[in-house]
Amino acid sequence: MRILVVGGGGREHALCWALAHDAAGTTLFATPGNPGTAELATNLAIPATAVDDIVAAVHAHNVDLTVVGPEAPLAAGLADRLAAAGRSVFGPTEAAARLESSKAFAKEVMAAAGVPTAASRAFTDLTPALDHIATHPEPLVVKASGLAAGKGAVVCGTRDEAAAAARAMLAQGRLGEAGREIVVEHFLKGEELSVLALTDGERVAILPPAQDHKRLGEGDTGPNTGGMGAYAPVALTTPGLLDRVRRDVLEPTLAEMRRRGTPYRGVLYAGLMIATDGAPSVVEFNCRFGDPEAEAVLPILPPGIAADLDAIARGAWRPRAAEVAPTGAAVTTVLAARGYPDRPEAGAEIVLPDDLGEGILVFHAGTARDERGTLRVRGGRVLAVTALAPTVAAAAAAGRGACERIRFAGKTWRRDIGWRELARAGTA
Ligand code: AMP
Repeated sequence: MRILVVGGGGREHALCWALAHDAAGTTLFATPGNPGTAELATNLAIPATAVDDIVAAVHAHNVDLTVVGPEAPLAAGLADRLAAAGRSVFGPTEAAARLESSKAFAKEVMAAAGVPTAASRAFTDLTPALDHIATHPEPLVVKASGLAAGKGAVVCGTRDEAAAAARAMLAQGRLGEAGREIVVEHFLKGEELSVLALTDGERVAILPPAQDHKRLGEGDTGPNTGGMGAYAPVALTTPGLLDRVRRDVLEPTLAEMRRRGTPYRGVLYAGLMIATDGAPSVVEFNCRFGDPEAEAVLPILPPGIAADLDAIARGAWRPRAAEVAPTGAAVTTVLAARGYPDRPEAGAEIVLPDDLGEGILVFHAGTARDERGTLRVRGGRVLAVTALAPTVAAAAAAGRGACERIRFAGKTWRRDIGWRELARAGTA
């Protein structure tokens, strides 16, 4: 089979790795890929959002299956375009991807489907938004409705902060088009959990849930980032909780999307808040594999992911299990550039030892080779280092050891990925 992976980050390297591992004889392409995918795939120098060029490449290289990594090409209708051209694609249509590309739309779907989520209202005009905020209980959350690369949610301790966030988005255009509509919602207490599920629009296979670490600093402190690490499995995830997520969140959302004539096919990623009483609420939906969750979850899937993605894309899927059991534990640690997330510095040379030990996978994200072939820092999140072991504690220790040995000037990382799990297991 000839498979194209769209995107060029750690998630896409992990997708290439999983697809190469899973199906012998697979020929892989990546648009644009990165130096990591180059070892598994033919990189085609096409940006992930260049929809016309990607469709042309699928024809030119006779690609059987296109797997779309990031949200932007999905929101731009890449899956629709490929389907219209008679090509098989894993990823939702533009209309279905609105579950991520419009938070206001996602809230409307959840309200119609009775899915638990924070009470909210959407606004496009500042005055009614400020009036609403003026009587809203504290704390509260102001979110840009559109795609804002993880920068769109502002958790506000006070109404004044919320008013300032609303003003910045609606009046000052701080997040551009993404912030032309905002959602003001109640603050949810609890612990976050990322549940990724494969779906053909009707049936669901829940992948091993993960937790990610969005804050830059150890102990989950400092500014929000695209993600500094993730791990799976998560002991918080009891069979009862997953049943509830399936019954109360995934199935009703998929049913509502079918009812609207826009069935959702692909990975549905539910970012959940689990309250202390165990009740899940949806914080957000994403329409693709999470990054860095993908780098932790894909390596611990049992064989068969390539066949699953292919069958879903062709509309001929039979889930092998309602819940996919992990083959072990994975801890993924992101090594970021100096200055990440606000002003990452590019250029430093990366020293990446060949032999980092058994069970260590290094996924490239913001790397590039210079004209001499030297590996250098190109972007904020540079590498995602995944350690595989029988337990989260063992994987966390192995991952730390490997991350110590990878060197580049300004290397910025957290040594405490998985700390919640270790605390739960009493091994912190
Ligand atoms: P989002 O862009 O919606 O995923 O939000 C980014 C982050 O903001 C989430 O991962 C949460 O940590 C936090 N957040 C968003 N909405 C809420 C909420 N209603 N209550 C508490 N925290 C939230």
